[in-house]
Amino acid sequence: MAEKLEAKPDRMATMEEYRAIVDDHPVKFDEKQVHFERDEGGDHKDGMCCAVCFHFYAGKFHNVCEIFRPTDGNPTIQPIDYCHFVTLDGENFPLLEE
Ligand code: SF4
Repeated sequence: MAEKLEAKPDRMATMEEYRAIVDDHPVKFDEKQVHFERDEGGDHKDGMCCAVCFHFYAGKFHNVCEIFRPTDGNPTIQPIDYCHFVTLDGENFPLLEE
């Protein structure tokens, strides 16, 4: 893990600090932990899929999930993918078994 940044330094950030942030990927769930499935979201699951999920972020070059990172070599989350943590509001999880 990269060295922690000085808390709110009173100066411009350095390239070393920039690279530390870029290289310091937060820990996220893997496929098994969230029951992630590619191309399986959609109508047959009441429309619950990454496209409508609170944790989905669509980027210019690829989409990401706030809580899950694929380990299959394809970093992009597709709108039609889904997992059992899909949620519209971060409070209700219709596919998650208690
Ligand atoms: S459905 Fe799962 S993988 Fe897709 S954005 Fe939501 S939490 Fe992430």
